[in-house]
Amino acid sequence: MMEFRDLKAQYERYKQEIDAAIQNVITNANFIGGNEVKELEEQLAHYIEVKHCITCANGTEAMSLVLMAWGIKQSDAVFVPDFTFFSTGEVVSFCGATPVFVDVDRDTFNIDTVKLEKAIVKTLEEGQLTPKVIIPVDLFGLPANHIEIERIAKKYNLLVLEDGAQGFGGNINGKKACSFGNAATTSFFPAKPLGCYGDGGAIFTNDDNLAALISSLKIHGKGQDKYDNVRIGVNSRLDTIQAAILKVKLKAFIDHELDDVNGVYQLYTEKLKGIVETPYIPESYYSSFAQYTIKLKNKEQRDGLQAYLKEHDIPSMVYYVKPMHQQGAFANLGYDDIDFDVTNKLCDTVLSLPMYPYISINDIKFVCNRIINYFEK
Ligand SMILES: *Cc1c(COP(=O)(O)O)cnc(C)c1O
Repeated sequence: MMEFRDLKAQYERYKQEIDAAIQNVITNANFIGGNEVKELEEQLAHYIEVKHCITCANGTEAMSLVLMAWGIKQSDAVFVPDFTFFSTGEVVSFCGATPVFVDVDRDTFNIDTVKLEKAIVKTLEEGQLTPKVIIPVDLFGLPANHIEIERIAKKYNLLVLEDGAQGFGGNINGKKACSFGNAATTSFFPAKPLGCYGDGGAIFTNDDNLAALISSLKIHGKGQDKYDNVRIGVNSRLDTIQAAILKVKLKAFIDHELDDVNGVYQLYTEKLKGIVETPYIPESYYSSFAQYTIKLKNKEQRDGLQAYLKEHDIPSMVYYVKPMHQQGAFANLGYDDIDFDVTNKLCDTVLSLPMYPYISINDIKFVCNRIINYFEK
């Protein structure tokens, strides 16, 4: 049966190099903080074209570490898109601040910058919370409108943390995802554009002071060394084995995977255009296609198509079933459904299709033909 994202295909192709990289770490028994971690950080910083890359335990902690370093706290407002994975809002509440959810753009799935500015103005007028940070998400691989977000951040004196967990590999006019804002983060969860064999994450920034502070926070607030503790921190490291695996995978990602996945996008779109609403990539934007997400007319049509594909052994996913403002964990914030009509509609009408660099042309054609059949019924 076809897989939604077949991680074994990649392993088979790079088995020799990956096995050797893992074996090397085991032989050296340098499981924490081995050379591979430093080397990977240098390669990642070079690829993204930022001064600092600091790896950590996962993409959620990467965001928490940045907010912690910025001293975000109770009574601060952090602006987060309503249509994203839970952790973008979770990290805000985790540091005691309040996430202010903002509806998204129906075409790009990313934060609606007009509604973002309105939300900032409204928060200022209400006077309860102090606007501090915007966390734009590069959803499904497409960079958010970082040019407009930067303008808004400057105007209201806010910090920007780019959540590039799905965005790694994308760019706007050649400027890479994970290089926008005051800091950016990514995730190496196995199913992300650049995934490892477990959990992992990274922070990117050009800010020397922020990089130094995060490097301390992630190792128990270390000073001279980890037994000299100058502040309260956390334990958040990328294992040497994961770094060794990522070094092999980063090379494959740059060499061909990013191109290949964009080839998959083109073939899907060629076949599906006019039948369903295919992903929209604005002029001068490049997506790393963490997901290939189509839109259907309504929930009935979407659920019907998903069931039909399942009957034909084709896996598909609904990212995301529930808007952030409807999550039980945020019920106390008292959000009103009517402020989120785009996100509400997207949750009912989106469907993500099998997508990864190693999917075969035959599989893509099979998926497209079944979708065409569904609409002929
Ligand atoms: C996956 C993801 C995260 C969290 O990454 P983890 O490594 O799983 O903690 C954060 N934001 C978005 C948008 C994600 O997709």
